[in-house]
Amino acid sequence: MTYATARPGQLPPREEVLVRAAWVLTVGPAGDLAYGAVHVRDGEIVAVGPYPELRADLPDVPVVGDGTGLLIPGFVNAHTHLSEALTTGMGSELTLFEWGERIVGPLGSVLTIEDACEGTRLRAVELLLTGVTTVNDMFVHSNPDEFASLGVVDGLVSAGLRGVVSFGAEDAAVPGAPWAGAARILAEQDELAVAVTAAAASGAPIGFRYGVGTLLGQSDELLEAGVDACRSHGWAVHTHLAEVREELVTASARWGRRTIPHALGLGMFDRPLIAGHGVWVTESDIDILASHDVAIAHNPVANMILGSGVCPVPRLRAAGLAVGIGTDGAASNDSQDMLQAVKMAALLAKVHALDPSVLDAATVLRMATLDGARALGLDHLVGSLEPGKRADLVLLQDSVCVSVLHDPCGQLVYGASPRAVRDVWVDGRRLVADHACVVIDEREQVERARPLASRLAYASGLADAGISRLRPPGRSAGRRVDDVATDAVAPDAGERSAPS
Ligand SMILES: [Zn+2]
Repeated sequence: MTYATARPGQLPPREEVLVRAAWVLTVGPAGDLAYGAVHVRDGEIVAVGPYPELRADLPDVPVVGDGTGLLIPGFVNAHTHLSEALTTGMGSELTLFEWGERIVGPLGSVLTIEDACEGTRLRAVELLLTGVTTVNDMFVHSNPDEFASLGVVDGLVSAGLRGVVSFGAEDAAVPGAPWAGAARILAEQDELAVAVTAAAASGAPIGFRYGVGTLLGQSDELLEAGVDACRSHGWAVHTHLAEVREELVTASARWGRRTIPHALGLGMFDRPLIAGHGVWVTESDIDILASHDVAIAHNPVANMILGSGVCPVPRLRAAGLAVGIGTDGAASNDSQDMLQAVKMAALLAKVHALDPSVLDAATVLRMATLDGARALGLDHLVGSLEPGKRADLVLLQDSVCVSVLHDPCGQLVYGASPRAVRDVWVDGRRLVADHACVVIDEREQVERARPLASRLAYASGLADAGISRLRPPGRSAGRRVDDVATDAVAPDAGERSAPS
């Protein structure tokens, strides 16, 4: 099995700066600081405090920020699929099971390591420009010819993002013959872990988890082999649990119990585990999750697009679970805009409970930062602005949406848009500066991604089925970014839409 070599990264150097804002929302012991600042040096937060005092102590350190706006810890996107980076906007009227069979399955069978790397770099721009500094990814594919998931490592390293990567393997999901046996899938898990270890050894802020796409998507043989592998390697786990009601019915028919009791019985909860969703949970399920410190990634936008249900966030938090917020994949969300996910987490809980106080803005900010870090076992490094933690921070400034700060946290959660994201540091490197991604050229990356997206649409058969309306590969080469909208629609495409 061969794969491309890592794309060399051109990361900005770690800088020493004093970052100031009208409000510093630390999500840490210092609380919310008016006219505060954070001192960053060598990739670490050195001090957090009132700007005048820090400035007096550090008269020669460059200052970033004009004292308006908000400074917050970088968001932790607790659950996504960069395997969907090039496949947004298809099948938005399908249920999860329909969408998985008609869209994700065909696309996953033709994903390549190049798609993974370039797609990761494309969505890294969107993640950074919406304030994400840590991303927990699960790459899902079923291409027997390539270890495609390894491309995510190259993409994240070159983008400078902090990340946790996993291969969301499924050997039983594709109708007909399984695409691979347990040995092939475990070999890719091993290779991915090796690639991550190598990247981390050279300084990249990246980690590995063992991925289980879904329990129902795996054979019993692979489920058991995976538990054994996690036990012997000490791997933590990333999976989905209790996303839709059909999952519970199907699991009960297959194993005589729902997925959470089944995962317990397999021993999956003996290792640290984060699960996307946790929507369809009973009280006994919550007891199981809480007693095993299972973390949940809440994905409100994807849950609403797919009509999956409402995660009982207040109940899970009351039971002591770490509940982070995720965008979910770019295809089930149709975006990687973390600010949308943060706002929707608050709104969905309120409308579901018919109670506007059920999940307040400060709690939602905490979920999107410190609780997400805790859910990934990274809260000793990131998630709050505290001396000694790594310098992952976001300055929001220069926009109407953060100009009137009667309630800074409320304005962030309910009012902030990506236009306000001015500067983003990951591990002390400024990857977004003055509202532009400086680590990846956005226009150039769009140009690189467009022919790959088109190839995927045709190789998977989704273009011929009328589900994708992209032109064939090559038709769009050399066009300007501004032409994407017109370019994306074939002249004879008419009003085709996803089949019902
Ligand atoms: Zn997911």
